[in-house]
Amino acid sequence: MKALVYHGPGQKAWQEVPDPKIIDATDAIVAVNTTTICGTDLHILKGDVPAVTDGRILGHEGVGTITEVGQAVRKLAVGDRVIISCITSCGSCSYCRQQLPAHCLDDEGASGIGWVLGHLIDGTQAEYVRAPFAENSLHKLPQGVSDEAAVMLSDILPTGFEIGVRNGRVKPGDVVAVVGAGPVGLAAMMTAGLYGASRIIAIDLDDNRIQHAKDFGATDGVNSGSAGWRDEVLAMTDGLGVDTAVEAVGVPLTFEMATELIRPGGTVANVGVHGRSAELKLQDLWIKDVAITTGLVSATTTPMLLKLVAQGRLTPEKFSSHRFTFGSIMDAYDTFGRAAETKALKVVITG
Ligand code: NAD
Ligand code: ZN
Repeated sequence: MKALVYHGPGQKAWQEVPDPKIIDATDAIVAVNTTTICGTDLHILKGDVPAVTDGRILGHEGVGTITEVGQAVRKLAVGDRVIISCITSCGSCSYCRQQLPAHCLDDEGASGIGWVLGHLIDGTQAEYVRAPFAENSLHKLPQGVSDEAAVMLSDILPTGFEIGVRNGRVKPGDVVAVVGAGPVGLAAMMTAGLYGASRIIAIDLDDNRIQHAKDFGATDGVNSGSAGWRDEVLAMTDGLGVDTAVEAVGVPLTFEMATELIRPGGTVANVGVHGRSAELKLQDLWIKDVAITTGLVSATTTPMLLKLVAQGRLTPEKFSSHRFTFGSIMDAYDTFGRAAETKALKVVITG
């Protein structure tokens, strides 16, 4: 088969590789029909994720058709159309039983991390992929849900919802600010409405992204490049601050911005992946009764989100801004890598 193979920082190739095989009785092999590229894949290509080694097939998002199942797989069958979750998990370790499969202790020998696809084992940017713990890691698709909608449920929609909205304790009537209107921030905006947010404020430096956010549930937009950005946000909240501030960028400045917007009793939900420490102004925050949350997506809400997609209540196909075939996956990377110029949100790649 062919696959997108990582060959060290800055190096990748669409090349011939051996077909994946069942290793454990709980595995399934999936023919990948649709995949996409995540910002994390770009981090890997920059060399930021040293656990990814030369020869690894990238990708942790996908929709496909099962072609083979291991002996222990009973609830899935050859021919089933499935979402491949970015989190694969054993279902029975301490963290899995605590509903935190993000930290699965038994995933491919990777003690404590449920994200192994395209990281510690070969991933989904390939014609076929081996899915470990298939019954926990694959979600059967109902008729009528398109691949373009379903592929957004592998990672970005559950991430925005679980780590942004749910950790952010959004309640009916709340004012929610989302710092960063990339795919993950937009996913938080799209799902904040599920818990009844009255106002959803998109904050970004890119006016095009802010404009886009209105199609994803944002009621207001603020460009944080302007001097008065903070007052602009506070004016939308009766001056007291927002109930929930979601950080969806991953740099110290935006985390600090989120902590400056929060009202007493509110929640700062950090979603961004950080590479450096940020300043925590505890001298201002200690008295405010705020909660600060962090998290890695567990993707435990994928079945619930899938029901809403099947009912047309959520329309994540909107994320797909550019379409490619496997043969042009190198162009897909180029387009996604220059998102500010190309206005790419998610690039969808089909087999
Ligand atoms: P992205 O890079 O596509 O989007 C980031 C957005 O932030 C862009 O629109 C950019 O214009 C904006 N931005 C940059 N600097 C800014 C600033 N100073 N002020 C305001 N806006 C600014 O990223 P994404 O794919 O949407 O992912 C967002 C973050 O979520 C990343 O850090 C990613 O690694 C992380 N992530 C976390 C998890 C998790 O489980 N916690 C899962 C997936 C992704
Ligand atoms: Zn991802």
